[in-house]
Amino acid sequence: MKRFELNYYLDGLKAQNNVALAKAITLVESKRKEDQIIANELLDRIVESRLSSVRIGITGTPGVGKSSFIEGFGNNLIEQGKKVAVLAIDPSSQKTGGSILGDKTRMEYLSRNPHAFIRPSASGNALGGVNNRTREAVLLCEAAGYDVIIVETVGVGQSETLVNNMVDFFLLMIQPGSGDDLQGIKKGIMEMAHGIVINKSDGDQAKLAKQSKKDLLSAMHLFAASDTGWSTKVELCSALEKSGFDSVWQMIQSFTEEMTSNGLFDQNRTNQNVSWFEERVQLGILMELTGKSKLNTLQSELKLKVQQNKMSVTKATTQMLKVIKQQLA
Ligand code: GDP
Repeated sequence: MKRFELNYYLDGLKAQNNVALAKAITLVESKRKEDQIIANELLDRIVESRLSSVRIGITGTPGVGKSSFIEGFGNNLIEQGKKVAVLAIDPSSQKTGGSILGDKTRMEYLSRNPHAFIRPSASGNALGGVNNRTREAVLLCEAAGYDVIIVETVGVGQSETLVNNMVDFFLLMIQPGSGDDLQGIKKGIMEMAHGIVINKSDGDQAKLAKQSKKDLLSAMHLFAASDTGWSTKVELCSALEKSGFDSVWQMIQSFTEEMTSNGLFDQNRTNQNVSWFEERVQLGILMELTGKSKLNTLQSELKLKVQQNKMSVTKATTQMLKVIKQQLA
């Protein structure tokens, strides 16, 4: 990758240039030391560029219609004068057949719009995606003038929690289904969601979708009330017929208005920043330590002893921690 001076990125973002934005994201994703130095400086310089944006997380199983929805919804917002960035996290591209990264035809129309920016960011690593740079990408998009940031993920694994921790509004997309289908949706994710959108509410499925909405709403009565005072809303939509986009946007706006007036909007972002910092520091410490070959060897030896029942877990842990302490001293 060709590396530019810091000012190239700063000026490019300020000028809302999509090419510079893409290059800036590549820069922060780079693992090379020289790139990281400029990336850190760049991120530090844009930290002040506060713009009123809304960060929306979207999750749902493959095939539910996320990309069709984002394509239509995104274009709808652009028509209203917004700028829409879409960042996709693919937690396990091999497992899902690369449904986010691989499919080039996704959001074809939106991707050609100069007021849109679409970028997949792979995070298929063992650490549950904590090492990915999506948070940085969100900040860069905002610095480039994007005021609606959509972070999309496939509903598998831990990616929902990861995304929920970096957005303001978390949206779960489902399709019309029987009561049994709805029971299959993980309760934790439903509780996490600020809004549930039942897509494909069209044609033969329109009636079933209405019934699903009723079922969902009554099931959700059993959930513990959120401490933000917001109760999860359910909206119907058809990405195919381009209907329901306005009510989804209305729902998101009501949420941001309510959270802004009670101070929780900013507080949530601050909390997210603090836990982001803590997460990265912990990860850094872990990587520093596991990078030491002496510790790795010891860990393998102790692990084997535990496996073979030759040593108690307590003793193995104590021995391991003793050596870690020596390393840190
Ligand atoms: P994703 O994997 O969640 O991104 O889903 P896609 O957007 O790729 O959609 C999966 C399939 O569902 C495609 O064949 C779409 O044409 C279809 N689809 C998406 N939205 C709708 C909708 O609102 N109604 C109907 N009937 N089909 C839809």
